[in-house]
Amino acid sequence: QAKEQGRNGYRIFDAEHDRRRRNRKESQERLQLALAHNELQLYYQPKVNMRSGQVVGAEALLRWHHPQHGVLAPGAFLADIEDSELDIPLGEWVLRTALAQMQYWRARGLLQGVSVNISAFHLQQPDFAHRMALILQDYPDVPRDMLEIEVLESTALSDLERVISLMRECQALGVRFALDDFGTGYSSLLYLKRLPADKLKIDQSFIRNMHEDTDDLAIVQGIIGLSGAFNRHLVAEGVETEEHGKLLLYLGCEVAQGYGIARPMPADSFFDWVRKWQGNPAWEYAGRQRWS
Ligand code: C2E
Ligand code: MG
Ligand code: MG
Ligand code: MG
Repeated sequence: QAKEQGRNGYRIFDAEHDRRRRNRKESQERLQLALAHNELQLYYQPKVNMRSGQVVGAEALLRWHHPQHGVLAPGAFLADIEDSELDIPLGEWVLRTALAQMQYWRARGLLQGVSVNISAFHLQQPDFAHRMALILQDYPDVPRDMLEIEVLESTALSDLERVISLMRECQALGVRFALDDFGTGYSSLLYLKRLPADKLKIDQSFIRNMHEDTDDLAIVQGIIGLSGAFNRHLVAEGVETEEHGKLLLYLGCEVAQGYGIARPMPADSFFDWVRKWQGNPAWEYAGRQRWS
């Protein structure tokens, strides 16, 4: 009797598993079409130095103009293609689109670097650095060090040595790396020690409540300390309010990205935004007051 139920249980599980796999397959096919039909677009979110007010770059963030559902953020579709074949053409499309954008901006006097998010699966392809070199060749006017690759801190876990060596190969091409969502992965310290990334991005989950939550505050302070000790650049993500900005400046983190500065926006809007951006005097004042 119990055995019978167990088998039933498995059958239900199998059916559910099957359904999920079919859905996943369908979304992958749908996204492949989206890529072919030009429904994908990169939005750009500025990163600014809060003390000087200078715009120091932009992060490219994927959006899908879905014919039925409107503009979708990655949360709505990326999980379905994670670790699938499609991850690679999609990642390469993102790289090419960002490079083409930088080339276009440069020709118009906007010299901003762009960082792109690359999935763990894509990054760990044996020919990643080789294909990166080929892609870069197609955009000869863009200085290599204007491209930055953001990898999730947890990415490296599956094969640290391999990731280290491919990051070195890419760095030899001039490309830089940032560890994204820093603090949310596993053993940050070993990876921080070993991975040749020159930037850490403090995850927004620690920024959000750092005013009230002393643990979050301690984590933010810890990451700021680590970035100094290991001589890495630092960006805080999810800076939504002036309060966030002021506290970060006080703690020693100058570069920020978040809705409090600007939301991700299409490339043309970014171009206009940079020309109008004046910095936030309140942050600058807080910085001067505390630091000089
Ligand atoms: P991420 O790389 O950590 O990017 C930051 C996310 O936080 C973005 O969400 C951004 O819109 C959002 N954000 C920025 N400032 C604020 C803020 O002040 N408050 C809040 N609540 N959120 C803020 P988005 O665009 O939905 O992207 C989510 C994640 O999807 C990204 O997290 C990244 O991991 C992934 N992703 C985005 N674009 C790509 C891509 O082209 N390729 C790959 N593989 N992954 C991507
Ligand atoms: Mg990112
Ligand atoms: Mg992040
Ligand atoms: Mg994130």
